[in-house]
Amino acid sequence: MQFEIIKKDSTSDARLGRCHTSHGIFHTPAFMPVGTQATVKSLTPEDLREIGAEIILSNTYHLFLRPGHERIQRLGGLHRFMHWDHPLLTDSGGFQVFSLNSLVKISEEGVQFQSHIDGSRHLLSPEKAIEIQEAMGADIIMSLDECTPYPASHGEAERSLELTLNWSRRCKDSRRREDQALFGIVQGGMYSDLRKRSVGALREMGFAGYALGGLSVGESKEMMLEVVSQTAPLLPWDRPRYLMGVGTPFDMAQAVLRGVDMFDCVLPTRNARNGMLFTRSGRLVIKNARYADDDSSIDPGCSCYTCRHYSRAYLRHLYLAEEILAMRLNTIHNLHFYLTFIGEIRQAMAEERLKDWVKTCYAQWNSEEENNAEQPDRWGSSSRKKTPGKRNPSPARSASMK
Ligand SMILES: [Zn+2]
Repeated sequence: MQFEIIKKDSTSDARLGRCHTSHGIFHTPAFMPVGTQATVKSLTPEDLREIGAEIILSNTYHLFLRPGHERIQRLGGLHRFMHWDHPLLTDSGGFQVFSLNSLVKISEEGVQFQSHIDGSRHLLSPEKAIEIQEAMGADIIMSLDECTPYPASHGEAERSLELTLNWSRRCKDSRRREDQALFGIVQGGMYSDLRKRSVGALREMGFAGYALGGLSVGESKEMMLEVVSQTAPLLPWDRPRYLMGVGTPFDMAQAVLRGVDMFDCVLPTRNARNGMLFTRSGRLVIKNARYADDDSSIDPGCSCYTCRHYSRAYLRHLYLAEEILAMRLNTIHNLHFYLTFIGEIRQAMAEERLKDWVKTCYAQWNSEEENNAEQPDRWGSSSRKKTPGKRNPSPARSASMK
């Protein structure tokens, strides 16, 4: 993989770039829709391309358990299996092992867990995480890490970091395929000395890209951005930086200003299925009674398929009737919103007006819906509360650490 920085923003740490992979190019800053089970729920790859997705993410944990990485390999690899012939990233599986299973045992060797599907027992080691990801064949693969819980004492965060560094080294040593880019993951909790040590050790090992892990796990937004501000400048300039599991459009804009290039988050897709839609002026809860006779589109400024053809009244009806189409139309809109948003960030950067663009967005977001008492949370920020499957590893697992 080749990462090319086209432009550095003159007023911030933001970078405009291009990643060349064996399945084509994606532009950075990039947002990656999440396709957990080798599908972005309710959309086809053609839908995804139409709304501007250049790279998507799939979850190793789920595909390892079902249908199995060896089967995917026999069937021609993940790209072919899911009919997505474009850049693809898989995570290591570690995060989901921690967050979806209560019976997890961590040791130097790896993580022992029981399948949430059939109760079968497995060991996810660094070597296994690489073996699975190499079999599936994504363009970007991630090393196995332990997502440090929050809050964690300095001692706990340090022990967790040492484990991650050991696993990172083993991931690097065990890889066989040269056509995949392996990313290392920076941990260290909320401690700047540990984050610094993490970056130093990973840089020494040398990875194709670097991810910031262990964020958006319950800490405040200010704290998350502080860690990004401190950590991003320590990373190699010429490698992509990926902030895992973050976040709202606000979070992405702020992280871009601090030098982050890649994002993934389940917010746009999960919220779509729950009837929460993103607009320029804030979030819109489609089931609200005031949309029952509303013939306007979700967002008058949006050019997505859903907004071109359907009214709020119709979408509200579909949602209340629990029709499958509700999920699909809402997902098209929310992902289009995210991908347009990140595309506008790139455009603004190219035209040297990034900070003005961000300011304008904030001004728009402060109006209308945001001031509505029914919807006090701005853009799904309440989703930071712990929900299953989000980046909130079981707090119990630090206790089982050796
Ligand atoms: Zn739309």
